[in-house]
Order: sequence, then structure tokens, then C-alpha cells
Amino acid sequence: MAKRKAPRPRTAAQKKARIQEILRRLDEAYPHAVCALQHKDAWQLLVATILSAQCTDKRVNMVTPGLFEKYPTIRDFASLRPEVLEPDIRSTGFFRNKARSLIGAAKTILSEFKGRVPETMEEMLRIPGAARKTANVVLGTAFGKATGVVVDTHVQRIARRLDLTLHEDPRKIEQDLIKAIPQEKWIEFSHQIIHHGRQKCFARRPACAQCNLETICYAKDKTV
Ligand code: SF4
Repeated sequence: MAKRKAPRPRTAAQKKARIQEILRRLDEAYPHAVCALQHKDAWQLLVATILSAQCTDKRVNMVTPGLFEKYPTIRDFASLRPEVLEPDIRSTGFFRNKARSLIGAAKTILSEFKGRVPETMEEMLRIPGAARKTANVVLGTAFGKATGVVVDTHVQRIARRLDLTLHEDPRKIEQDLIKAIPQEKWIEFSHQIIHHGRQKCFARRPACAQCNLETICYAKDKTV
């Protein structure tokens, strides 16, 4: 029997109920969604997140174990010259900028934050290479602090497909998500949507027939 489509919500109450249903179905599909970047502490997660720009988490996870074995501490990174670090991270792309960001981040953490990764958004944004996305990943995953919603390429695409935003600019998308999603779900929601983007809601030809959100999704590029 064909699945019944839910009518598109019109009133504020209907829209709120739909968001609750989206969250419920994400919990059902991805009950244990966590950050895919391997790390042992906040510094390692910060490094991995900076390296993940324009690169897959899989590739970053291939690079970081050797990197942290070679340079185990923040002080090790701070003492490096970019040209020494670059070959170790070359395969993640944009390696010159990333080397400068990592060394700058290590120096800033030592000089301004007594060698500890800071735990507020305001402080995180003073770290070279850490914009809101990186800060949200580290604050949410390493410290359990819901200061915002991570907006990466998957969240950007799927938030639009699910009518949670009309924007394309990540900062505006994040503001829409912050308004729509209850704060206690911000961290988990990002992880779940990122998993959904990798497993089903692909940029090209999303696997809508296998998606449990299909009956409440009105995306123009749905494949069913
Ligand atoms: S139905 Fe398709 S487009 Fe909509 S969320 Fe699911 S996979 Fe993505």
C-alpha cells in the first residue's frame, strides 16, 4: 500500500508539530549519531575540524592519528613552522592555509587561554581558523555545550529540503535552525542531519524511497 503524504503545514502550530515529527523520525533513524571525526580531547577535535574543511571526515581520520603521534601537544604545534607541518596534512587539501591556521590556533590557545581550548563561542572565534561551524563542533561535541547548530554542507542542503530555512548563507541558516529547533536538540540534530546526508539525502539523487522523512518532505528534487 502506498504511503500517505502528510499535507503541507500552514499554521504555526502545524509547522511546530511537523518539526517535532522530523526530530522524532531523526531519533528513530539515527539514535546514536555522533561526530565522525576521531579525537581524544578538545584540541584534537579542533585540529580535525579545521582539517575537515573541503575534505571528507574519512580522509581526516586517516591523517590525524599519525599527526598526533608526531606532535602530541599543543606546544608541539605552536613551535612548528608551516612548511614543516604542510607535508603531514597535504592530503586534506588547502594544506598551506590549514597549516597556518593550526599553528596560529596552537599559539593563540597558549598565549590567550593558558593552553586550554576555550569553552565559549566568543573565545573560540578568536582562534585562527575557527569560524562558527568549527566552534559549534568543538563546543557541542567536546564540551556538550549547545551554543548553536553546526551548519556544514549537509545541514545546508537538507535544512532547505526540509523547509527549515529558505536561506543559503550558513549564518542565516543557523539562525533559522536555532529558532526552529529546541536548544536541547541542537547538538544531536546536527549529527543526525550529517549522517542523513551521508547515508540517504545525497546532494545528487537522494535515496527518498529509503527515507523515513519522505511523507513529510516537500523537497523539489525528491526522487519518489
Ligand atoms: S525524502 Fe529525500 S529529499 Fe526528503 S529528506 Fe528524505 S532523502 Fe532527503
